[in-house]
Amino acid sequence: MGEAPAFIIDDLQTGFLNGFDLKSQGCATATVIGNKAYLIGGVNDEPTLSLGVHIFDQTRGELVSPLVLGTKPTPCKGHSAVLLNEDRILMIKRGSVPDDCIWFLEVDTQFVREQRKILGTEVVAWSKGVRGNADKPVVISGPSGVGKGTLISMLMKEFPSMFGFSVSHTTRAPRGMEKDGVHYHFTERSAMEREIEDGKFLEFAAVHGNLYGTSVEAVEVVADAGKRCILDIDVQGARSVKASSLDAMFIFVCPPSMEELEKRLRARGTETEEQVQKRLRNAQTEIEQGKSSGIFDHILYNDNLEECYESLKKLLGLDGNITTSPKASPKGVEFPMDLAISKIDQKIIIKCGSPDLKTTSNFRIVLDLSSLKGGAPGRTRGLDFYAIESFSNGLNGFNQLS
Ligand code: ADP
Ligand code: 5GP
Repeated sequence: MGEAPAFIIDDLQTGFLNGFDLKSQGCATATVIGNKAYLIGGVNDEPTLSLGVHIFDQTRGELVSPLVLGTKPTPCKGHSAVLLNEDRILMIKRGSVPDDCIWFLEVDTQFVREQRKILGTEVVAWSKGVRGNADKPVVISGPSGVGKGTLISMLMKEFPSMFGFSVSHTTRAPRGMEKDGVHYHFTERSAMEREIEDGKFLEFAAVHGNLYGTSVEAVEVVADAGKRCILDIDVQGARSVKASSLDAMFIFVCPPSMEELEKRLRARGTETEEQVQKRLRNAQTEIEQGKSSGIFDHILYNDNLEECYESLKKLLGLDGNITTSPKASPKGVEFPMDLAISKIDQKIIIKCGSPDLKTTSNFRIVLDLSSLKGGAPGRTRGLDFYAIESFSNGLNGFNQLS
């Protein structure tokens, strides 16, 4: 990033940035990093309270519309922004509930830098802050017919509130019992290719003659539900995820033998003879790559199903007393409309009060950044905030958050 110090114009009290009239453009905050100002809020024809993003290049005096990845926050009554570590902007939506109040606009994280390179354009990415600490996503790979789907179904059945399946997109036709939106998002190739170009996919690969891919949204919805995300993807996809900034656990499932794999594939009876042959040919390479590529943290042999399932549970820390469960969201709590934010070391201090911030300045909300994990694609997990000092009117029940 540039050498000039980063600073923030909150609420655009100054209005002008190098001659560019931000206020009349209707944008709500501008965060300056080097020679770029990241403008959040309505610019040009957008409504002021929408959270569109534009970049004002101060050197060239140009306004750029970047490709905005991730789910965009819904409009709010106003927002504040503060820069974190020169690579992301923390945004607080005013007057919103805690489950929707903290968002991160990533402007120069590893994910954004990679996407900028792949897509060849200016990129930023939204990542929503979620409370609690869901464990890192689990990537499960292995040759077709080895039993990945069976193991994942057993896990989801035994721990329905703990795991969520990342529903992939595919261009292959549905099998008899498969449901659109549940097992896969069954998609036309041209539509999927368009969405890939738009940066909607975390990874994608051609597998057994069809296109398969994990959308960023597929991973986000699981994190939003406070669940641990499971991805059933091939080795190429696992390699892409490993290279991305999604911090995941990688497990490869091996068959006891090629003969047994062939038996299982045929017994499943879901593929034509030609497809079975193609899958078996690919299996050999996949197993070699799975064992030797260094992508996978763990290799499981699925010989006896029950034993393999027990080993999987052990890897996931599910063999003892289970204490984790998704945290219930506090109901009826709102982030106040009037606030000012500052950053001290790893803490964000949110001063709440009236517009002049004098009358009720005796309470603060503290957001501890040291507990944050993950980021786009997906969600920024581990949000931990609490109120300090005495309460006064207007806190809207924030004590429930401590
Ligand atoms: P994948 O998702 O890896 O393609 P599936 O979970 O669909 O594989 O399993 C393929 C077939 O093998 C299914 O009919 C399943 O019931 C069967 N299967 C899975 N694991 C075992 C096992 N350990 N022993 C015998 N059959 C198995
Ligand atoms: P199937 O057609 O049997 O459901 O899946 C075939 C292969 O595609 C499996 O190895 C499965 O892991 C892989 N696969 C499923 N979804 C995805 C995905 O989103 N991305 C990638 N790269 N592979 C996937």
